[in-house]
Amino acid sequence: MSFDVSTIKADFPILAQQVNGQPLVYLDNGATTQKPNAVIDAITHYYRNDNSNVHRGAHTLSDRATSVFEQARKDVKGFLNANSSDEIIWTKGTTEAVNLVAFSWGLQNLRMGDQVLVSHMEHHANIVPWQMVCEKTGAELVPMPVNDDGDIDLDQLNGLLSENVKFVSVAHVSNALGTVNPVQDIINLAHKVGALVMIDGAQAVAHWDIDVQRLDCDFYAFSGHKLYGPTGIGVLYGKADLLNLMTPFMGGGEMIETVTFEKTTFNTLPYKFEPGTPNIAGAVGLSAAINYLNSLDREAVASHEEDVMDYALAKAKQTKGLRIVGNAKHRAGVLSFVIEGTHPHDVGTLLDQQGVAVRTGNHCAMPIMERMGVPGTVRASFALYNSREDVDALFNAIEKIRMFF
Ligand code: PLP
Repeated sequence: MSFDVSTIKADFPILAQQVNGQPLVYLDNGATTQKPNAVIDAITHYYRNDNSNVHRGAHTLSDRATSVFEQARKDVKGFLNANSSDEIIWTKGTTEAVNLVAFSWGLQNLRMGDQVLVSHMEHHANIVPWQMVCEKTGAELVPMPVNDDGDIDLDQLNGLLSENVKFVSVAHVSNALGTVNPVQDIINLAHKVGALVMIDGAQAVAHWDIDVQRLDCDFYAFSGHKLYGPTGIGVLYGKADLLNLMTPFMGGGEMIETVTFEKTTFNTLPYKFEPGTPNIAGAVGLSAAINYLNSLDREAVASHEEDVMDYALAKAKQTKGLRIVGNAKHRAGVLSFVIEGTHPHDVGTLLDQQGVAVRTGNHCAMPIMERMGVPGTVRASFALYNSREDVDALFNAIEKIRMFF
């Protein structure tokens, strides 16, 4: 199978529009990706034909809704190569998945004197829940240092690891710098001291295959909307033996086995972590996104994305007054930069006037912005439908705005 970016682009109807009188060049994929027809059609089909509540009704539509919903879980199981569908918990997104682990596992297991390690480059979603749980339990949140290039230094990490470290939670790919972290090394090192490891895969899953069994991570989280699927649906993968020992942090219908006023006993996995009516259409849309990706040659997609990234980096290096923020050894999907004498927000607005959509600001990663000595950056982030032409459009637009500064 080969890869033709214009055929791919045609699968995404939103991209065929003009913005501010210019063809849309969408480079804000780190925030959310656009959706192919396959996903839009699957959601529409579900609401037109199968919509009902799951696991409840003794009627045909409910059976159908349950069957597509549980099939979606199996699709995610296959996508992550989990051992069992019971290890796939539906959440609203990565944020809820981290909160689930921090509150369910953390409140039960963390004590005064324990440490939780997160890297200096985490998204707030992988800092704040841990901070909240550390405050409640007396455990300490310790940042893993990041060097000036935006890489984690494994020797320094090794120096931090001790038997006090009970949990390590780290991004697979940084949304602010694009750094691809050496998660396999981090998992191996953390396991040596007996710590559990969660990988925040929000920015990774769209770029290459993930195999949670090979990684041997204890938890892995991602959001559907960054994987060409809908918003409001995400996944927590967890090893079954760990999930089985954890007490749910949210209660309600569906997650119980029996309820009396004296005591509630919980349902089996995965339902014990899924109180209330789930986002059924979201799961259907996410499964369509996974099937769409699986219909492509993912190695060809990955090498196309690498080519676009390298092309963008080369252009950035040739651009006068542009400073790339983060120079990681291995990078995916993200180019963060500042332009001398300009504020990132002004650059973003002027690029938007030329049809180029980028994100500006701190990218919900204030600690790493401070570490890099910038209040924020302009971030161009790439997806499989972006091309070298999109990169040219970005840098042509940057040249045009020079006159304003
Ligand atoms: N982690 C990373 C690395 C992210 O990039 C994001 C979103 O940008 C999140 C977590 C939070 O994802 P969500 O808002 O979908 O829960």
